Amino acid sequence: MAREVLARLDIEGLQSGACSGDWLKTQGEALVSKNPTTGETLGTVRSATLADAEAVLGSATVAFDSWRMRPAPLRGEMIRAFGNALREHKEDLGALISLEVGKIKSEGLGEVQEMIDICDFAVGLSRQLCGITIQSERPRHRMFEQWHPLGPIAIVTAFNFPMAVWAWNAALGAVCGDVMLWKPSPRTPLTALAVQQIANRVMREHDALGVFNLLVGDAEVGSWMSDNRKIPLVSFTGSTAVGRKVAAQVGGRLGRTILELGGNNAIIVMDDADLEMAVPAITFGAIGTAGQRCTSTRRIFAQRAIAPKLTERLAAAYRTVTIGDPLVAGTLLGPLISPQSVAAYEAALVAAKHQGGTILCGGKKLDRPGNFVEPTIVKAPAQASFPIAWEETFAPILYVFEVDSLAEAIAANNAVTQGLSSAIFTESMRPSEQFLSPIGSDCGIANVNIGTSGAEIGGAFGGEKDTGGGRESGSDSWKAYMRRQTCTVNWSGHAPLAQGVQFDVG
Ligand code: NAD
Repeated sequence: MAREVLARLDIEGLQSGACSGDWLKTQGEALVSKNPTTGETLGTVRSATLADAEAVLGSATVAFDSWRMRPAPLRGEMIRAFGNALREHKEDLGALISLEVGKIKSEGLGEVQEMIDICDFAVGLSRQLCGITIQSERPRHRMFEQWHPLGPIAIVTAFNFPMAVWAWNAALGAVCGDVMLWKPSPRTPLTALAVQQIANRVMREHDALGVFNLLVGDAEVGSWMSDNRKIPLVSFTGSTAVGRKVAAQVGGRLGRTILELGGNNAIIVMDDADLEMAVPAITFGAIGTAGQRCTSTRRIFAQRAIAPKLTERLAAAYRTVTIGDPLVAGTLLGPLISPQSVAAYEAALVAAKHQGGTILCGGKKLDRPGNFVEPTIVKAPAQASFPIAWEETFAPILYVFEVDSLAEAIAANNAVTQGLSSAIFTESMRPSEQFLSPIGSDCGIANVNIGTSGAEIGGAFGGEKDTGGGRESGSDSWKAYMRRQTCTVNWSGHAPLAQGVQFDVG
């Protein structure tokens, strides 16, 4: 199965991890891609050295010289074709995500659909990169803003959305006139190779080779990107710990970043919540992608009267979850990405018990090949005395807290250092409005009667505090990929200064 998928995606036997129009003969470390479901090797990729990275940046820079002058709607034509090519390969790309990351089939396909959606969005955007006209205080002067391409930008991605996060950045960056250097997670080199092969074909047909470039590697290549003054923007998606380093390095040279870092997302369940909606939303949020989404639901703040019924129904729902091969129909929970992730899951549960938590269901690693664990619900004491819940453990562990009031729930939601996604379930207007108000959730995403994960591409995506403050995808996120220029044109025949300043010379 894996072989056929790799062959249809034209990456069987391909080993180079660097591409800028053509694949380079890379000499870096060999990265072995393993199927987390079986532990079997899917392929080996030679990562890029810093010399390869310099070569790719050089040819990307040449490509930028002409790409930035192609009218944006024509740049959009290339993205339209790319989106169509993704449609043709959707099944295989989705299957490859399942093979390399362990996402269940519909989530793998959903990730490819997200790429297609952002391409559609970017095509429309290519005719809408609008600046504003501003009233000048001087007669017969015209003042306006315009937006120009930035240059070669770096996109560093995490393992858990091995294609979509690149596409959010790359589709917008391309219509904005930038060229992209992509450094995927070393855990997911094959998904990156497959996307690059499709991009290569489309770029060739549109005389645009060098717009999308690939550099498979790890921290060394990422760090080189952060330090490189020829790269005006580093869009980084990954853990808060690594994001801090990236921010310091890029900030040190006064470059720009988009930071999409860790989350620790909570759902508040009020006594009047509709459990028909809340239970499936929480279950998907906590178990989807095996709890390895930045938006995964990790904490529940249930009002005291509804808490017993909610936990009982959640535990019942958890017992129906089929764990296994993510490509088999009916599976809802696939493996974690690595044995280290399984160890982190086990360590978190040891800490949870030590800190006064009670495991209501799950709690064990499965005795079978692959990185499988049981989805787990922990009844937790007060959050203040339960430090494990303040951390993002990338696994299907859900901590359930009981609270007395909305104010207590909001305070607990906001207490952690991360600020990505949040939600409330209630049938009442006042609590939902308070949750969305300035005294409500402090997260970048706040939902009512919808869980924390599964955002649409039309909105700006990102979070506050330790989540990094970046925004990607929809709304006006495109502005981060361009530079703003304020222009004033004087057609008066005189030379008046602003603020009435007089400076008569000669
Ligand atoms: P990670 O931080 O281990 O790795 C992310 C990327 O950073 C990888 O490509 C890695 O090779 C690279 N990297 C490592 N060291 C680097 C360095 N010194 N300089 C530059 N790059 C370096 O994260 P992960 O385990 O792949 O992904 C999980 C994390 O990503 C979680 O914390 C999750 O919440 C976060 N994430 C956030 C979002 C979001 O949109 N906020 C989306 C997906 C994942």
